[in-house]
Amino acid sequence: MLVYGCQMNVSDGERMAGELATIGYRQTDDMAAADLILINTCCVRETAEDHVYGKIGEIKRLKAQKPELIFGITGCMAQKEAGRLIARAPHIDFVLGTNKIHELTRVVQDIEQHRGHVVDTALGSAAHTYGEGRENAAITAERGQVLTGQGRKLSETEEFTAAYGQLDDLAGGPVARGGQLSAWVPIMYGCNNFCSYCIVPYVRGRERSRQPEDVVREVAAAVAEGYKEVTLLGQNVNSYGKDHGRADFADLLKMVDAVPGIERVRFMTSHPKDLSDKVIAAIRDGVHLCEHIHLPVQYGSDHILKAMNRVYTVAQYRDLVQRIRAALPQAALTTDLIVGFPGETADDFQQMLAFLQEIRYDSAYTFIYSPRSGTPAAGMPDQVPDDVKHQRLEQLMAVQNKISAEINAALQGTVQEIMVEGPSKNDAAMWSGRTRTNKLVLFPHADEQAGDMVQIKIKQPQTWLLKGVRV
Ligand code: SAM
Ligand code: SF4
Repeated sequence: MLVYGCQMNVSDGERMAGELATIGYRQTDDMAAADLILINTCCVRETAEDHVYGKIGEIKRLKAQKPELIFGITGCMAQKEAGRLIARAPHIDFVLGTNKIHELTRVVQDIEQHRGHVVDTALGSAAHTYGEGRENAAITAERGQVLTGQGRKLSETEEFTAAYGQLDDLAGGPVARGGQLSAWVPIMYGCNNFCSYCIVPYVRGRERSRQPEDVVREVAAAVAEGYKEVTLLGQNVNSYGKDHGRADFADLLKMVDAVPGIERVRFMTSHPKDLSDKVIAAIRDGVHLCEHIHLPVQYGSDHILKAMNRVYTVAQYRDLVQRIRAALPQAALTTDLIVGFPGETADDFQQMLAFLQEIRYDSAYTFIYSPRSGTPAAGMPDQVPDDVKHQRLEQLMAVQNKISAEINAALQGTVQEIMVEGPSKNDAAMWSGRTRTNKLVLFPHADEQAGDMVQIKIKQPQTWLLKGVRV
């Protein structure tokens, strides 16, 4: 299984692997030895899609050598492209959309027995479309296009949930987790926000929250298997529970914090418009809730924030950061930033740089705006030329890297609690772990075991990591 994209995709991949294990499949790193190859895809930026098309081409050769190999595409690009993928690359056997993890084993078994193509990307109906050969793939391509909306807001998901209850992926099934210590736990799927640049609401449908009992049960099961840390996942975790009304995100945090044996609880992502004082208080009063908030601002000028449909202003975001820092002075704050959004002027960009200097994030993921067909921003006038986008990205990264280095330099001499993860990838004599604020720390290994909590004195802070010694 090859997984591209965000943590939600990694988590979905673990669930697919869990489902496939129930019908006898296990994972291999050797593609040539595989009987089934799945690519769990991302389409949030064009580069992500380009990688996937490259891999699809590579797998054509494998499939020519081994015709019985089953090859499927899942995830966001599967949802977006549906049957067009098979029309373009007929060596793909099946395409399954983002709300179809529970269908995976049935589809794979069906292909094992009958061969033929399967495309199922219905976000919100129980309809399945089976076919033999390309003709049907073309029909399902058309159907997939209708169901995925292509730029229109979808409502089928709500209808589906109302009609079929938990027949989708919300209840949770078997999970084949990748890590040893840290478990991803999705608490909700989908997004209602329609930021004007973003494809996610179209390919993942409307927000659907899992029941709090299901989340708590999954966290407890992960702890029983030896996991010490969980990360609660959602496109906007702060709107958790708005659909079922049984618990909000602050309530859920408290419930997860109370699971016996859990050591650390993380969460992502927070939309600034929904991060309530109740959530901030829950983190402040929590025991295992880590002091790290990933709070994507996306941009630092009101003009662009409005065009992005982020529905907050720079002043409102600043106020939120002040409330977070008043309650949680030790908290690390990280963000996502997009440069080159249509209509971005030199003045907007200067405001963005000034905003970064003012807020001083611990770190930031920086992206070049990638037009996504069907989203409002793709059709906006004044698209920014590529060379300007690249120049601005470099300037932005230089400013942010300097801030990250300064913030880390201030940790020189402090003692940090680290959860030990294991040997460092680049230096076997050093082991790595993370602070509660999610900073990577390297230290010389003695007798520590993965999962130990140790105190490390910071001796050599750097931009991306901290080096220290055990105290
Ligand atoms: N739901 C999360 C949120 O709102 O912060 C993150 C979802 S998205 C997978 C992760 C990040 O990708 C976003 O925060 C945004 O910065 C970036 N992104 C989304 N669409 C983009 C686009 N069309 N071009 C460039 N970056 C994009
Ligand atoms: Fe995309 Fe905005 Fe939803 Fe995040 S909140 S997934 S950026 S639409």
